[in-house]
Amino acid sequence: MEKKRFDVVVIGSGPGGYVAAIKAAQNGKNVAIVEKNFLGGSCLNVGCIPTKTLLANAQVMEKIHKAEEYGISVGNISFDFSKMKTRKDQVVEKIRKSLGGLLQSNKITIIHGKAEFMSPTELKVSGAENLMIESENIIIATGSEPLDIPAFPCDHKRILNSSSILELTKLPKSLAIIGGGYIGCEFASLYAALGVQVTILEALPEILSLQGKAVGTALSSAFKKQGITIQTNVFVEGIQHSGEGVEIKLRDAESLYADLALVSVGRKVNSSNLGLEKAGVKVSDKGAIAVNGRMQTNVPGIYAIGDVTGQVLLAHVASHQGIVAASNIIGRPMDMHYNAVPAVIFTTPEIAIVGMTLEQAKAAGYDAVVGQFPFQALGKSIATIDTEGFAEVIIDKKTGQILGAQVVGHEAATLIAEMALAINNELTAECVADTIHAHPTVAEAWMEAALLALETPIHLPPRRKR
Ligand SMILES: Cc1cc2nc3c(=O)[nH]c(=O)nc-3n(C[C@H](O)[C@H](O)[C@H](O)COP(=O)(O)OP(=O)(O)OC[C@H]3O[C@@H](n4cnc5c(N)ncnc54)[C@H](O)[C@@H]3O)c2cc1C
Repeated sequence: MEKKRFDVVVIGSGPGGYVAAIKAAQNGKNVAIVEKNFLGGSCLNVGCIPTKTLLANAQVMEKIHKAEEYGISVGNISFDFSKMKTRKDQVVEKIRKSLGGLLQSNKITIIHGKAEFMSPTELKVSGAENLMIESENIIIATGSEPLDIPAFPCDHKRILNSSSILELTKLPKSLAIIGGGYIGCEFASLYAALGVQVTILEALPEILSLQGKAVGTALSSAFKKQGITIQTNVFVEGIQHSGEGVEIKLRDAESLYADLALVSVGRKVNSSNLGLEKAGVKVSDKGAIAVNGRMQTNVPGIYAIGDVTGQVLLAHVASHQGIVAASNIIGRPMDMHYNAVPAVIFTTPEIAIVGMTLEQAKAAGYDAVVGQFPFQALGKSIATIDTEGFAEVIIDKKTGQILGAQVVGHEAATLIAEMALAINNELTAECVADTIHAHPTVAEAWMEAALLALETPIHLPPRRKR
């Protein structure tokens, strides 16, 4: 079998793998990427990009529904879901092509096939290409896939997961979503906007429980107004075909019937079938590859990044971990920090968070206070009829340091960048309040929230002294 040598080999071309490969190649390393599927990983093919392309349709629908409030009459609205799906496929294809070009322009060798360790420095590739690869530096960036649960057997026709639902060309009348995490909530927003009757079934007391109480409660009430049914504290025992649709069996409650079910109960990291035992790489009991802050595994020369490390399953975290791993390989020591990771949930309303929630800050021992500014009080939000939601900062009362921030409402995804910068650089509420923010913009909400946390609000009445 043919054998090739590289300075660095990356397994997986998702946002973790391809970014690591580019960083290493830009610093003079001879790099290869091994990919068993499409370039771009879950993010490009079945994650961030296809979902956001489809959600763009929901945003247009939302604006059209509000058109009368702007004085615009639009008449009857109609749409073609299969065209939306085709556009989604075209967007993915276009970005996939440019990614291939980007890797080639960085002189990165793309090897198509499945990689498996034979030893700590050797990989066997099988599939479209068959060869052996040798390298002193191997980065595992194999990502994750939807978690399969035997009681919820996805047939990808009526019982779907987050990948197969993206292949639908016809809308169902009703959709039951098992799991109220961010992926389930994004699909709920999309399908509800397109007129589908959506029910979310969540085992915990709140949807978005990982994102904190403030945003979970705000989204629940917005979803209810949009006609989305949310059942919390429910335990789904099984799903099966029934008539033309599906029956969802619930513990201690009547079954729920829907045309389709989406199982969205978590992700499984891709660490099996990689031959890790032959390389001696350690994994946790859930299969995640154990790494230190430099993204090094227990085996010298082998790094792991992205979802497969089970840390924070987000594309931009994977990319940053890729930069950290590559920097350490090229001899520029760098550590990974997770205190300022922004996370966005592209629902209607949009949600974005960074740093600690109030509950987390208190649990960490801070005398934490919140400044929450409602969009109802912001000129730009009133002008664009986007008054739902708020921006809030959580600060340490003693030092004024910003510990966390959350936004529910318009432009949340873009707004959160300012707070990520503030938290990453340990800025205080005074720093934000003293920064001149352009008027009228949604970003002024941060200045106002910081002023509120400092108990010196300008555009809201002062809190009454008892
Ligand atoms: C529906 C959905 C929506 C999402 N939306 C967002 C979002 O809006 N924002 C966000 O930040 N994150 C989002 N995510 C999460 C994001 O997609 C992941 O965090 C990200 O893709 C992880 O990147 P990665 O590089 O670790 O792995 P992946 O993107 O999973 O890539 C891993 C690659 O490795 C390849 N591979 C695996 N094993 C082998 C092998 N043995 N040999 C060769 N190749 C192999 C796979 O084929 C794959 O291409 C979403 C996920 C889903 C499912």
